[in-house]
Amino acid sequence: MKDNNRTAICPRCGQEYHGYPALSRTDNETMICPDCGTREALESIGISTEEQDKILEIIHGRINLE
Ligand SMILES: [Zn+2]
Repeated sequence: MKDNNRTAICPRCGQEYHGYPALSRTDNETMICPDCGTREALESIGISTEEQDKILEIIHGRINLE
C-alpha cells in the first residue's frame, strides 16, 4: 500500500478526513477538511449554516433531488 491515502483530523470540525485538505480562510494557514473549506466559502458569501448543510448533502449525494 502506498501512502497517498493518508488521513488527518480537521481542527475545525474534529472529523477525520482523507484526500486534499482545504486552506482555512480565517487565518490562511490552517488546513481543514474539504467540507469545512466549502462551508467557509459559503459562509463568506452569506449562506446560512442550514443552507450550508443542504448544499453539502447535495454535494455528497445524500439527498434525492425531486
Ligand atoms: Zn472539517
